[in-house]
Amino acid sequence: MTLFDAGLVARLDKAYSQTNYAGLHTTYPPVYARGAAAQEAALSGTAPFDFPAWNACTLYLHFPFCSSKCSFCRQFSCAVGDRKHYAAYTDLLCRELALYSDRLAGSRVSGLYFGGGTPALFDFERVFAETARRFNLAAPYFFNMEATPCSLDLDKLRAMKRIGVTRLCVGLQSMSPAVLKAINRPAAQLKAFPEVYGQALRAGLDNICVELVCGLPEETADSFRQGLSALIAMRPAGIHIYKFSQIPSTPLFRKYGPQTESQLLATQAMYKEGAALLDSAGYRYYGDDFSRDSGQRNPMIHRQAEYAGFNSVIGAGLGALGSLRLKSGVLKTSNTRSMRDYAAALSGGRLPAERAAFLENGDDLIRAQLVHQALFGRLTRADMRGLLPAGDKDLKGLYGRFSREFGFLQKEGKIKIAADFSEMTWDPSDLPWFRIFYSPAVLERCEAAIERPTFPGDFQTICRLRDGDFLPAGPGG
Ligand code: SF4
Repeated sequence: MTLFDAGLVARLDKAYSQTNYAGLHTTYPPVYARGAAAQEAALSGTAPFDFPAWNACTLYLHFPFCSSKCSFCRQFSCAVGDRKHYAAYTDLLCRELALYSDRLAGSRVSGLYFGGGTPALFDFERVFAETARRFNLAAPYFFNMEATPCSLDLDKLRAMKRIGVTRLCVGLQSMSPAVLKAINRPAAQLKAFPEVYGQALRAGLDNICVELVCGLPEETADSFRQGLSALIAMRPAGIHIYKFSQIPSTPLFRKYGPQTESQLLATQAMYKEGAALLDSAGYRYYGDDFSRDSGQRNPMIHRQAEYAGFNSVIGAGLGALGSLRLKSGVLKTSNTRSMRDYAAALSGGRLPAERAAFLENGDDLIRAQLVHQALFGRLTRADMRGLLPAGDKDLKGLYGRFSREFGFLQKEGKIKIAADFSEMTWDPSDLPWFRIFYSPAVLERCEAAIERPTFPGDFQTICRLRDGDFLPAGPGG
């Protein structure tokens, strides 16, 4: 039984193979190194999860539909026009929330993240009502909503304010009509954005973050500077600049091929100039976004804090990832990306996680935290202390444990290590560097996955894992 057209199910399968989740190497362990056994052991059944008393949860809800598919996009989403699919998916998501609420048994939930895809196109009020009814939403609390300019109107913005959205994240990607055309994104957003931005402020949503991508096809240094300057003049609370990177198998990759060295350098130069412009306009880099006020920074940073404290992220929705902090260790979950399987699991009263990995030894737990914190581009002394087991303040001991890896990064000029780890920084787009933190056991599981690809995205994984010597060649300095 499926509530969705066979065509949509097939398109979602294809969309998944075009995401960076498919070969995701930015989780620990990477998705492809997860197996079914841990899932069966820890996710089946109906008993409440065995969380420690101090655990708090964040709910990440994935909404995988958009009104059109941007050709560069590596998020797990596909273009869906028929409203009946939105309603059917919302039904399924609410069923999954019901299953999780039984397993959470009143545990504190300190954040909601509606991501996608375009959650603003769904009946988000219904999803929030279901969430509020079933979970223990407790302060301090954040509620992030992702949207595109064309998915918003005054009624929706008022509804977002009413249900307590604390941060609206608007994907703009570019202010250039030529770029929008090149990436299959509606030019109508250029007219819609100033209008909905004003409406959002009038509705009382003052914490608005706008996302841009630098280095997209047809973007020039001039067009990027002009677009960013116009945006800065509007004074949104936050601006996020992504650096464009071509993902194999996306339509844009097929059209333009891999980025050349000069395109990569141009992208880097745009980012640097953009960061300087933002700095001179009073925006500060808070580990992810450039924000005018540290209190309005990306709640993903709060998720980061939760990771550091080994708290839980519940990943609900098609293809969502989660991380459950149980007394016995951390269970990393990956929901199925097949709509057919998602619907079947929920109809059978089962959580739709299809892969999982259980981390129980201290080394793997700390490696996992390093990877998650490194995603935010910055590790400070406080971050490092957060990685240590409670009561253990021995930073030098932690350094000793990972000295080869840190020494290697230092030698490569990727980090600067001051006395006892006072600060390390690196460019967050240097994702391949995370791989040095994989333990030999995880690398072994990756190799096994490479020999037996289980879904099309694994091909990307193969390329990534073999394209460089990411393990330290010898003792680091
Ligand atoms: S609207 Fe956003 S999530 Fe959807 S395809 Fe475009 S960039 Fe991706």
